[in-house]
Amino acid sequence: MIMYLLYAVPGLLLGLYAQAKVKSAFNKYSKVRTRRGLTGAQAARAILDANGLYDVAVERVKGFLSDHYDPRSRVLRLSPGVYDNPSIASVGVAAHESGHALQHAKGYWPLQLRTTIVPTVQVGSWLGPIIFIIGLIINWISLAEVGLIFFGLTVVFAIVTLPVEIDASRRAKAVLVSQGIVSPEERKGVNAVLDAAALTYVAAAIQAIMIFLYYASLLSRRN
Ligand SMILES: [Zn+2]
Repeated sequence: MIMYLLYAVPGLLLGLYAQAKVKSAFNKYSKVRTRRGLTGAQAARAILDANGLYDVAVERVKGFLSDHYDPRSRVLRLSPGVYDNPSIASVGVAAHESGHALQHAKGYWPLQLRTTIVPTVQVGSWLGPIIFIIGLIINWISLAEVGLIFFGLTVVFAIVTLPVEIDASRRAKAVLVSQGIVSPEERKGVNAVLDAAALTYVAAAIQAIMIFLYYASLLSRRN
C-alpha cells in the first residue's frame, strides 16, 4: 500500500495542481474580452474556413471545458462557456480544438495513432489491471504479463497524447495571431490557458507511467 502511494502520489498531485491552474487561468481569461470580439464558435469557424475545412461542423456541447474535436464524425464540439463567449480563454480553447481538426486534415501521424488505439485503450485500461491482479492471485505470471501489456497501452496512449496536444496548442497560438483573432498583446492570456491545459496531459502521462512501473515492480518481485 505504501509502495503504491509512493508511485501514485507525485503524478496525482501534479494532476490536481494542473487542473487548478487550468480552472483559474480559464476563469480569469473568460472575463477578458478580445478586442476583435469573436466568440469561440466564430473563431473556430474562421480558422476552419481559412484552411478549407468548410465541411467540419462546429456544435455546442453541454459541460464545463468538455470541448473536443471528434475525428470520426469530423465535428468540433465546444462547451457553452467557449461557444458563446468572445473572451481570450474561449478563442484560445476554440483554436486549440481547431488545431486538432487541422492535424486531422493534414494527416498528422500522432493524432492518427491516437485515434487508432482509442478502442483498445478503452478496454485495456480496465481489463488490463483485472487480468493482472487475477494473474498475481492465482500465481500465473504469464497471465499477469498479458494484463500488464494491456495496461501498457494506456501508457502508450498517454504518451502519444503529449505531442498531439502540444502541437494543437502550437497551431492555435500561431493561427490566432496570424488571422488577427487575438492581438499580439492578448497572446499572454491564450498561452496561460493552453499551457496549463498541456500540463494536465503531462500529469496524466506521469500517472500512467508510474502506475505501470508499480505493476511491473510487483511482477518482478514474483519472478
Ligand atoms: Zn486537445
